[in-house]
Amino acid sequence: MATSKRIANAAPVQAGIAGANALDGAGGAGARKRSSGIDVVRPGAGVDSKSLLESLGVVDDLMQRKGLSNQQATLAGVRHSILRQLASVHGLDADALTLPQLSGPEWVKRFPDSRSTAELERTFKTGVDAFIKSMQDGHATVKVSSTYRPLERAYLMHYAYALAHDEVKPKDVPAQSGVDIVWDHGDPAASKRAAQAMVDAYDIAKEPALHSRHTEHKAIDMTIYWAGTLTLVDGDGTRVTIDSGPRDGTNRKLVKVGKTFGVVKAMFAGDPPHWSSDGH
Ligand SMILES: [Zn+2]
Repeated sequence: MATSKRIANAAPVQAGIAGANALDGAGGAGARKRSSGIDVVRPGAGVDSKSLLESLGVVDDLMQRKGLSNQQATLAGVRHSILRQLASVHGLDADALTLPQLSGPEWVKRFPDSRSTAELERTFKTGVDAFIKSMQDGHATVKVSSTYRPLERAYLMHYAYALAHDEVKPKDVPAQSGVDIVWDHGDPAASKRAAQAMVDAYDIAKEPALHSRHTEHKAIDMTIYWAGTLTLVDGDGTRVTIDSGPRDGTNRKLVKVGKTFGVVKAMFAGDPPHWSSDGH
């Protein structure tokens, strides 16, 4: 069997796993090389890319085995460590390598939302640009925090929230192409803690949808405010004076102006900066 051969060849670098009975169950020849803990790589002489790549193959094989599903977190850690060594041997940035990585707040900086209206669907973009220009011409301040949200980010936010709220089990979270995340830390409490840390880092207030107007290029989050009276021209060319409060994006007169540009204030509560093509 190819797998056994690869394990035997990888002797210089032991991918030993704690709880070797799991290995016995999987019938791995590598079990003979078991150690008490994770003893991935001995630094110094003898560690070269060939042995590292062989170890990587071993770990990848082990990760595929059903009998080792409760060892995924350990294996992912081993894999991560091997990739780091490989990167250093080749003078590469380890973070630039694609690697399955345990869930946690470091995921939050990946797959950022766009803040550019250039990412918006053509018709909506035209309306948004005109609405923003009109407000700015009236000396309002407009700060765009989000337009297009990549599906990868929506997926991470959605399932981090679901896991933190016990709505799904780590092993039941579906895969998302391009997101090599390991949700299951092998311990329910640890998995939930990591998901909650992501929720906190994303600053999620309410359950994020997997698909939304943001992932459809049809929404924008913007913070709007002004001082005194705001005078602006709406989408029909009519001059509008807003002298009542609140002096922000929730102002009812401003919401009416937005609509003339095809930019509709969120119909749901609790999301002040959100506008979209239809209010969803
Ligand atoms: Zn939004």
